[in-house]
Order: sequence, then structure tokens, then C-alpha cells
Amino acid sequence: MANPKHRHSKQRKRKRRTHYKIEAPNVGTCSNCGAPKLLHHICDACGFYRGRLIISQKVKEAPVLAANDEDESAS
Ligand SMILES: [Zn+2]
Repeated sequence: MANPKHRHSKQRKRKRRTHYKIEAPNVGTCSNCGAPKLLHHICDACGFYRGRLIISQKVKEAPVLAANDEDESAS
């Protein structure tokens, strides 16, 4: 088994970890419904991808959309 010969210093560890960071996801808007969606992903709101219906949404999804509309009007 390969083992490290020497322990790395705190400075070396911390310098390496300066590159560890989260990035904001690439968010675009759906061309069908205009909802924010991840690029190269099916729209969560309407199930469309590149203008085609991929996943038909269930009936229980409709109240969620209605709730979102109310939020937009309230703000
Ligand atoms: Zn959509």
C-alpha cells in the first residue's frame, strides 16, 4: 500500500482547499412556460424539452403552478 511519506502542512492543505467551492447552477428559462429550469434538463414545471412534451405532468402538479402564480402577483 502506498503511504504518504510526510504529512502535509496546514498551509499546503489550506492552499489546496482554496479551489473547493460550490458553483451556482446554470439556470435558464423554459421556452414553453418561462419557468426557471436547469440547462439541458427537462422543465420541472411543464415537462417540455426543446419544444417537445417529454413528461406529461400529473393533475396534482396543477395546484403547485397556481400557488406559484399567486406568489408572483403578491410580490
Ligand atoms: Zn416549462
